[in-house]
Amino acid sequence: MAEAPGPGAGLTLIATPIGNLADLSPRAHAALAQAGAVLCEDKRVTMKLLARHGISRPLLALHDHNEERMVPAILARLRAGEALALVSDAGTPLLSDPGYRLVRAAIGEGLPVTAVPGPSAALMALTLSGLPPQPFLFLGFLPPKGAARRARLETLRAAERAGLAATLILYEAPHRLAACLADCAAVLGERGAAVARELTKRFEEVRRGSLSDLAARYAQAAPRGEVTLVIGPPEPGAATAEDRQAAAADLDTALRAALAQSSLKDAVAAVARATGLPRRAVYARALELARTC
Ligand code: SAM
Repeated sequence: MAEAPGPGAGLTLIATPIGNLADLSPRAHAALAQAGAVLCEDKRVTMKLLARHGISRPLLALHDHNEERMVPAILARLRAGEALALVSDAGTPLLSDPGYRLVRAAIGEGLPVTAVPGPSAALMALTLSGLPPQPFLFLGFLPPKGAARRARLETLRAAERAGLAATLILYEAPHRLAACLADCAAVLGERGAAVARELTKRFEEVRRGSLSDLAARYAQAAPRGEVTLVIGPPEPGAATAEDRQAAAADLDTALRAALAQSSLKDAVAAVARATGLPRRAVYARALELARTC
């Protein structure tokens, strides 16, 4: 198989280790060593990685707070033919890390953009979770506050009611893990999950169980270190209390519309046919609605 040439002029996104510094690939090593400059989140973190591998290159800080401002100057250097490397503190750049605005701008200008693939906590956690590997949906971090987090999960649950059935991957801070798991159990319903902790490091651990079991486990003691949460897809036919409420509301809407146009008997027949619900259940609800109308 023909191999890609080493990174030349342009922007190269380089995946770096997520804990074990030995996980830097030979191609990542070469690309970093040849770069005119390395764009990085935290210079101290990248300096440590480069020093461990005997690489010394100029570092340029690129983080969430300065990315927008830095883009024009970086594009000018790329246009002039420089080879620039982009790394984040850990794993694959852009995934819950800076770089998206720069990459989008470079692509928009037709400048060369390539990548050296490598570690990512999301994919490693997915492969170790024991949950279906595809389809998967990477959610990054959910909002840190409870109400906003539950609202985001409600949106997701609505998509599941409409047919989405994917394994979910989330990043979470260790001190919020128990609350996040409890919210997931409440909104998404009971299902299998895995908490992957300290991947590639000395205390690497994957705990698998139901969302509520894991929530109870981590409510006793928050985990130490970094965690990635993987949640299995909904079981076919599984329904949360909210799903049942939503289904009841849908049934009422359908029945009211049918009752406004036809006899009780015809309305029940039509709605039972359309919803697939047992005719007896639809009839009982139609009687209740007709009584209260
Ligand atoms: N871009 C990175 C990647 O590709 O993995 C992720 C960056 S994101 C800012 C950092 C989050 O990733 C952490 O808060 C944690 O949720 C997860 N993470 C990073 N390293 C990890 C590890 N060694 N084990 C488990 N999760 C990890």
